[in-house]
Parts: sequence; structure tokens; C-alpha cells
Amino acid sequence: MQEPSAKSFDYNYKELGFCAGLEIHAQLQSERKLFCHCLPELVPATAHSDYHFERYFRPVLGELGDFDAGMLVEFEKQYRVIYETYGDNICTYEMDETPPFPPCNETITKGFLLARFLNCESPVNEVLFNRKQYLDGSITTGFQRTTIIARDGFINHRNKKIRINNVLIEEDAARRVNFHDRASRTVYYNLDRLGIPLTEIITNHLDCHDPFTLQNIGLVLGLGLRVLGIARRGIGTVRQDVNISITGGARVELKGIQDIDNIPQYCDHEITRQLALLELMENLKKRGIKKSDFQANNIDVSSAITNLGDSEIALAVRLSKCKDIFLKEVQPGKQFAEELFDRIELITGISMGNMSQSDSPQKWLDSHRVREILNLQIDDSFVVIRGTQKSVIHALSRTIERMNKALVGVPEETRRINPKTFNSEFLRVIHGKDRMYSDTDTPPVSISLDYPNLVPNDIIPPWELGEKYPISVRELIFIEKVNFYPEFSYIIQKFPKSCRKLLGLIERASHYMEKQNLRKDKNSLSYRKLLVDLITKRVSKDFLEEILLEINSSGEYNREKRLQELTNMDDDMYRRIKVVIADSEKQSDEITIGKLFGILKTHFPMLTSEQIHSTLLKEGKIGEN
Ligand SMILES: [Zn+2]
Repeated sequence: MQEPSAKSFDYNYKELGFCAGLEIHAQLQSERKLFCHCLPELVPATAHSDYHFERYFRPVLGELGDFDAGMLVEFEKQYRVIYETYGDNICTYEMDETPPFPPCNETITKGFLLARFLNCESPVNEVLFNRKQYLDGSITTGFQRTTIIARDGFINHRNKKIRINNVLIEEDAARRVNFHDRASRTVYYNLDRLGIPLTEIITNHLDCHDPFTLQNIGLVLGLGLRVLGIARRGIGTVRQDVNISITGGARVELKGIQDIDNIPQYCDHEITRQLALLELMENLKKRGIKKSDFQANNIDVSSAITNLGDSEIALAVRLSKCKDIFLKEVQPGKQFAEELFDRIELITGISMGNMSQSDSPQKWLDSHRVREILNLQIDDSFVVIRGTQKSVIHALSRTIERMNKALVGVPEETRRINPKTFNSEFLRVIHGKDRMYSDTDTPPVSISLDYPNLVPNDIIPPWELGEKYPISVRELIFIEKVNFYPEFSYIIQKFPKSCRKLLGLIERASHYMEKQNLRKDKNSLSYRKLLVDLITKRVSKDFLEEILLEINSSGEYNREKRLQELTNMDDDMYRRIKVVIADSEKQSDEITIGKLFGILKTHFPMLTSEQIHSTLLKEGKIGEN
């Protein structure tokens, strides 16, 4: 197993013409699943399935009467799909034995709330569900029900608009379990996740030109979903696909990145791959190789293979002038041979161990003998694949197809990521318009919502705070995590200059609360009052911990009572303090509060900071906010 690569790439993203967009998929909180009344919960890992059933999939025609090219490739994979089911979380809808129930209104409303939050200008006035084909077995019907809620939104990021193309609501797919070897044609799914409401947010990939901005967009949008209080929390509840391209390359979609922190690595590894494929293309062109040089001539080379099984055959294709191309490194630790063969393996089910090429041939083949049979020149290459005749012919035609794509550079495709190496491998061809068609099971849902006023005034989007105040996305994420986001976003608007100070106070408060195991009551105004008093120095921060304990035990922060207790000093003392204040002001015209505070502290060491503060307040030296 390879260790995660910590390689530094130092790419100049601007020069490379790097563009990237995100598709964020987040599960939404709801009482029920999107199209049935089952609980939107996953079963525990220890649960035993009640029963299972299996299916095979085939593509259907798109609205214009064509098959989607991507779907035909999916069909070639010929998966046998086995579904595991659990009583409470699955009904006949997930099994595709009954039509959908009316869609969950709560979820649809949340979709509009989110769209408004993301400044979408064009909400739909009627929700129309579509069917998006999926033949990988992850959805029993073979299609996902999905609907666009709104278009044309944006968020601000570092003085730039990041456009949001679409906000969608859809059903989540089943989750894959029991991963067997990749060459196996059987896949297993747990049906519990199927139908959990999901939102998809799509950012415009022309608005982001480096991986770190992309990462920040992902972070701030994820935070926005939590601030709005509509997203489910926990592992696997948010997944993102990343679309990447560079000049001369092609749009490639990396699927299912769960850890946003790794986005820059995945981007760099994909840039490496696209650059390598472009170099390979130039190299092939220089050698004068044309499409016609690659023919699926499928020559029988079985006599050059050791231990060939009874039902097996070995066929080869000749690749003129292609010496050494299989050794070309396309991603760290990964050569073009693997790039080619993992694709063929996924499509045909023949394991990579049964494929060989001329630059680093497998032990099971006599390379000289193959070259003789194929009558190869020194600069020529070959690919040999062994297996049943039908599957080998299929695999070699896919080999020729991929070699032809090498002549034009980078193929557009969807790739799955390898979290151990940050490399990726072919998953499927990017789908076209024929993958979508309308869902005739679900009638349109008319919408009457007060769209402009959907988002409560007191919920301030993190991308606005990040733009206006000196605070980073990660700091905002921290504030939300410790449940102080509502207080922070309220106070910061009243005291814009105290941003860093407020952050410091929240850090200190949350640290103490965690240590003392104090629960923060989300609806209590006490924390807000306390933080304001600390910012305005009505209360010394020396008392922060004490007051937090008080809020925890009594349920509130009684400012008036506390100030009264603390200012309870005798008249003589009060007179003496007033004299010192007057003297100090006489000596200096523009004495600051801080200085005055220091002077009083020196004169009256027995007084607490709290008492000095309240005296200054009483004397009108500190303003009420
Ligand atoms: Zn159900």
C-alpha cells in the first residue's frame, strides 16, 4: 500500500489555465425520506439485513430518442446488483415495487430557503421532478429523481463573485457495501440511504482558478448549510465532486471527495495527469502516429502464453511506433499502462493481471514469441489480453478506443479517487443530455412561498462575514462548531472593530465550557449579553469563567444584579476614586480609558477590575453601547 504522497507540485495555476467547480451534495434534515415515509436514517453497522434481492440494469432512451453514450458504457459493465434491506428504513418504494409517494414538502421548502440564502435569482414556481439515469445499481429504479429549485445565485469570496449555477433537490442513492475485488461483476448495496433528501449545489467552474480557493468555497458553502440549520451532520452526510480542467486538457470530474482538506492534493494529481497525457499526445504526434495505426486486429497469441486455461484465449493488438509509451508516468507512481488497464478492467471485468503490454510484459507471456507472431518492428508495441474470447475481444476494442483518445489528449470522464494515493481511476464517461428525462410518476408541485423573505434576518451567511470582517473561513467554522455563530454574527455588526477580540473571547469561553462540560443553551440570550459586556468592558474578562458557571446553574446572566454587587462600595471609597479620576484628567487632556484604568488599579489595589469598570461606567467615562 502506498503512503499518501506529500509531493509538492508548485504549479502556476494561472499559467496552466486551471478552472474548477464544485458539486456539493449534502443530506438535508427531514422527518421522512423524499418519496416515501420511511425514516431517513442509516442502520447501524452491526445490523443484519432482513432479506436481499437482486437486479440487472439496462439503459432507456432519452427524451429525444437517443441512448446516452455514458449509459451505454455503464451497460457494458453488466453488473449483477444485490440489495440488502432492513425493515424500518425500507419500504416497497426503495425496492421499486411501488410508485413514489408525494414528495416531502418540508424538504422542498428547505431547498427554496437554501436557494434564497445563496442569492439565487431564478427560483422555479413549479417543482418538476426529472429522472437521471444511474446504471451502477446505486438506485433500484435505474434513475434518480431530481429537481432544480433555482438558478443564478452567487456567494462572495475575496472580493469576487463565485456564481452558483443551480440548487437542486434529489434523493440520495443506496450505499455500496461489501467491496469485493474490482474485477468482480457483482456489487452489493445497503438500501437504507436510498431516498434520504439531498441538496446539490453547483458552482460555476469558470469562477475558480486555484485549488485553495476551491477548497475555501467548499468549506464556506458547507458552513453555510450548517448555519442555515438545514443540513444533517456526521460522516458521509456531505460529499463533493470536483470538476477540473486546464488549457488544452478536458473537464474531468473527480467523484465523492469527503475530506475537503485534500482537495488541493487531488487537484494537483489531476493536473499532473492532464499534463502527462498532453505530453504523451505530443510524443505520439511527433512519431507520426495516426488513428489508422491502431487497429483491433485481435491476433491469436495463445501459443506464447504459459498456463492458459481451457476456456481461455489470448489475443493481441499491434500498436505501431508506440515503444515505451506504457512507461510514461501519468500520476505519481502510476504509469500509462495502469491508466489504460484500470479503465479496461472496470468496463469489461477482466482483471488487470490478465492484461500485458510490451514495455513491461507479464511473466505469463513469452514476449519474443508474441513479437514474432505479430511481426513487430523494434519500435512497435503490443497489448495482450487473456480470458474468454468474447470478453477479450471486448477488452481489445476498448484498448484501441483508449489509444485513439491518447491521440487527442485528455478524455472527458468521471473518475473515482484513491484516498491513499490522491490518484484517480476511470469510473465512467461524462454523461450527456440524454441521461435525463421527465418523471411521469410525480405530478408538478405548485409553489407559493414568500421567496424574498424566506431567510430569517438574524441568519447572516458566513461568506458575508468573511468579506466584511478580518476573520477566516476556518475561524468561522470553529465559531459555528462551538455553537457561538448566532452571537458572533449579531455582535460583530454592532462592534465591527472588535472582531479579533470577540473571537478571542469565544475561544476562551468555549475552551472553558468544554473543560467544565457546560452545555450551551442555543436559545439563551445570556451569552450574547455577556459577550457584549465583555467587549464594552462593562465586565472584566477576569469574571468570564465565573459568569459562565452562573449561567449554567441559574440559566441566565443577570447583569444588573452583578453590577450592583460589584459596585457595592462605601461612599468614602467612591469619593476617593472620583478625586483620582479628576486629578488624572487634569494632568493629561486626552487620557485614555486604558490609562485611567491602570492609574486606578495602582491607587486602589484592593478593588477588582469589575469594580473599577463599573465606577468608570457610573462616571460616564465608558459609554453605554
Ligand atoms: Zn420507503
